[in-house]
Amino acid sequence: MKILNLDHIGIAVKSLSESSKLYELLGIKSTGTEEVAGQKVKVAFFPVGDSEVELLESTAPDGPIARYIEKNGEGIQHIALRVDDLEKALAELKAKGVRLIDEKPRYGAGGARIAFVHPKSTGGILLELSEKK
Ligand code: ZN
Repeated sequence: MKILNLDHIGIAVKSLSESSKLYELLGIKSTGTEEVAGQKVKVAFFPVGDSEVELLESTAPDGPIARYIEKNGEGIQHIALRVDDLEKALAELKAKGVRLIDEKPRYGAGGARIAFVHPKSTGGILLELSEKK
């Protein structure tokens, strides 16, 4: 398994348009918004060097981001590390006893293949592994 970089930091927000204002003030232009129906979210990415800030707004009251905000308020919801080979990374982590939320990759924003590692195995951080071609 090879970690390539800190791909992005995912921030749960109530409103993409409200929360985007800070990044626009900082002079960072969004690469656009996208809806990921499977995760009941609308996302916007703001590139920062070779990483990005991902803002996530729920599109449904029972979605994972809505539930996160209900419990914790707005804020950092996950961090994502980019890997060269997601299947290989998942197999390696599983073999090392790391608890995975996704044992198989699913599709995230921008066509990336992603999988989540359970916070019980990461000291409380929801960790996303992301593979982009
Ligand atoms: Zn993410």
